[in-house]
Amino acid sequence: MLNLDFHPTGRHFLQIPGPSPVPDRILRAMSLPTIDHRGPEFGALGRKVLADIRQIFQTRNPVAIYPASGTGAWEAALSNLLSPGDHVLMYETGHFATLWNKMATRLGLQTEFLALPGTEHGVPAGWRRGVQAEQIEARLKADSGHAIKAVCVVHNETSTGVTSDIAAVRRAIDAARHPALLLVDTISGLASADYRHDEWGVDVTVSGSQKGLMLPPGISFNALSPKALEASKSARLPKAFWAWDEIVEMNQSGYWPYTPNTNLLYGLSEACDMLLEQGLEAVFARHQRWAAGVRAAVKAWGLEIQCADPAVYSPVLTGVIMPEGVDADAVRKLIYERFDCSLGAGLGKLKGRMFRIGHLGDCNDLTLVGALGGCEMGLRLAGVRLAGSGVQAAMEYFAGHPQPVALRKAA
Ligand SMILES: *Cc1c(COP(=O)(O)O)cnc(C)c1O
Repeated sequence: MLNLDFHPTGRHFLQIPGPSPVPDRILRAMSLPTIDHRGPEFGALGRKVLADIRQIFQTRNPVAIYPASGTGAWEAALSNLLSPGDHVLMYETGHFATLWNKMATRLGLQTEFLALPGTEHGVPAGWRRGVQAEQIEARLKADSGHAIKAVCVVHNETSTGVTSDIAAVRRAIDAARHPALLLVDTISGLASADYRHDEWGVDVTVSGSQKGLMLPPGISFNALSPKALEASKSARLPKAFWAWDEIVEMNQSGYWPYTPNTNLLYGLSEACDMLLEQGLEAVFARHQRWAAGVRAAVKAWGLEIQCADPAVYSPVLTGVIMPEGVDADAVRKLIYERFDCSLGAGLGKLKGRMFRIGHLGDCNDLTLVGALGGCEMGLRLAGVRLAGSGVQAAMEYFAGHPQPVALRKAA
């Protein structure tokens, strides 16, 4: 028997940038009995979560919810909008952009993967600086025959800790007077980093449950635009399970064409209550503040942050580059074994070169001070020479920058 009950004393520090820790309030909501997904109570639940999730995406348009991981919602976006052989422009921001590009190729699309020229620390410059909207604008202007059907970009690139400017990509498409659809992956940005589906003119936004929404893995989303719904009527890639038309139609009454993930939807309802009670502005500010504290720690250690442009630092995670000759995976292993703290690995071209600290969702100042303590001890044990104490720097940052509203009021 696999003993999943075993755990050391205290709470595990799940500091990977998704799945993120699930608050007890959400775990309790999900422990309710599973109900009849065709019964009347279910319709009320469905209507509530479908209304709430629009607020989280900042959209008035339909949002499709799939019982699938984020990867499924990537496929849903492409297969609903495009036809075999369609030309798709994607941008190389990191490992997740690379995987989405690979998927598009496997689906039979003709993909063009724009990259920022040059390398820094052995990886393409885009892995440190995110999407350069001018490059997209220039490429679209050169496409006078409008062969390019869609532009796909990752908002918060989880492999690097770089958050690209989606409003700038929208402006680039408009400046080129190009009709391409705009598809955005904010699987790790939603409900942590500011994101505005309607205001930024995004046609499909892809997201998932296990990051900013603080839910377990297992549901994912496509937020739509009227233009996307129209384009899906003539798109010819095969689609059945992912097809928006039946889902959007049945969602009007709060039901799905198949069995939805009932207990995760209880969790989603609770997550939306928590986020909307706090207010999205406060949620975004909380993440920015944590990110600043963690960056202060990395700087005090004298280590380099994967994101090289302060304008696009991710509020969700921070990538920490190891000095030459230090294996980041060995450092992570040591921190896991000795201090019960999980950190994100370097992915793809960054394997072994850096690790990632997640600072999202159900987190607080002391969790981060603890996690940074684990990192600092682990780095020293691994023989990394540190310039100073990152924990001290983070404590000073948090103490010097109080939350705008006290977390608790004493009696
Ligand atoms: C997590 C993540 C994915 C993949 O989602 P899965 O749920 O693992 O399928 C894709 N893109 C980004 C930016 C992510 O953070």
